[in-house]
Amino acid sequence: MKGLTILGSTGSIGVSTLDVVARHPDRYRVVALTANHDVEGMLQQCQAFRPQVAVMADEASAEALAGRLRDESLNTEVLSGVVGLERVASMPEADYVMAAIVGAAGLLPALAAVRAGKRLLLANKEALVVSGHLFMEEARQHGAEILPIDSEHNAVFQCMPADFERGLARVGVKKILLTASGGPFRRSSLDELRAVTPEQACAHPNWEMGRKISVDSATMMNKGLEVIEACWLFRTSPEQVEVVLHPQSVIHSMVEYNDGSVLAQLGNPDMRIPIAHALAWPERIESGVGSLDLFAVARLDFEAPDTERFPCLRLAYQAIDAGGTAPAVLNAANEVAVARFLEGNLDFLGIPQVVEQTLNAFAVEPAETLELLLEQDHRAREYAEQVVRERV
Ligand code: NAD
Ligand code: MG
Repeated sequence: MKGLTILGSTGSIGVSTLDVVARHPDRYRVVALTANHDVEGMLQQCQAFRPQVAVMADEASAEALAGRLRDESLNTEVLSGVVGLERVASMPEADYVMAAIVGAAGLLPALAAVRAGKRLLLANKEALVVSGHLFMEEARQHGAEILPIDSEHNAVFQCMPADFERGLARVGVKKILLTASGGPFRRSSLDELRAVTPEQACAHPNWEMGRKISVDSATMMNKGLEVIEACWLFRTSPEQVEVVLHPQSVIHSMVEYNDGSVLAQLGNPDMRIPIAHALAWPERIESGVGSLDLFAVARLDFEAPDTERFPCLRLAYQAIDAGGTAPAVLNAANEVAVARFLEGNLDFLGIPQVVEQTLNAFAVEPAETLELLLEQDHRAREYAEQVVRERV
């Protein structure tokens, strides 16, 4: 029996994780759940899974939850704030930690799990984008096992030889091919992109996800963040990570070897597959996802990405090439731009513009300490907010 903490349990990944866990009550025990504001969602999860601890990042929501739990005579302990998140990420009862908070807000709790030597199921790609070098180094020092949940990276992990950590060149890997659906606007002209609304951007053709990652998929920043994520997870350089548009989202990514072999992982686009894979690894368990119907899929298409219409991908390569604090600045500016777009205070094409202006305004520094990265994150957010204000 493995104890599991889910950071961000009320979100899209969190709910999918609980769906898989509920199928295997003999294997997994939910130790702690966390959310930001969603008291009712958390209450229902506490009723269904009886965790030892529930954390609401927001103080007032924590108080409200504690009251509701008392009314229902549930004895789940309630904690709040980043301190509470870090506590449940590192508590001894948790063998595994699912990192499914969205954005850089998930960095400190995920890092706490790494420092406690947990098996980390990493969905929160922003954590790695902000602090990749430091994060991987802490994992090595503390013997934490990082298993990727992002479907592309999980696919790459499945296609890699078991000893890939020796170095990709040593194990005969030439390239990582990250597939991208292209999002809802793959065929849209620049004029059409100008008028995109938040609702249109959040309607992804193949995947159901939280709003922030849905917008990232529409701008293709999601793929840019994933290129950076792949560089850290698989210890490789950006030149060895190629993005391939594949609108059906059936191949989740591929690994090319020196001999010309290309291995791919296929499946229905449902996050329960990578979640079940990472929970059970190296075993395999039922995920609740049906068989892939290749006759219904019928064809698999591939295209090169267009960085004219989707400059975010180019900006992400620019940031990882620059290294140091640049990816943290890229991520912070993007989080601000996406939030303002979702509120209706920035147009869709403004997102890459705000990111580019912010990225270019900051001198790159070596990403030596967490404090420096968090400070850059903070300063980049302030700068990006200013850029947004000046546009209106
Ligand atoms: P979501 O918005 O649906 O859920 C986010 C969760 O984090 C919620 O439980 C929310 O309460 C919590 N949260 C939000 N802000 C917080 C804060 N400041 N402090 C503490 N908790 C906070 O997001 P999602 O789609 O589940 O994505 C989660 C992460 O997984 C993201 O990093 C995303 O990029 C990654 N991911 C998601 C998918 C997907 O299919 N949804 C696929 C691959 C990767
Ligand atoms: Mg992905």
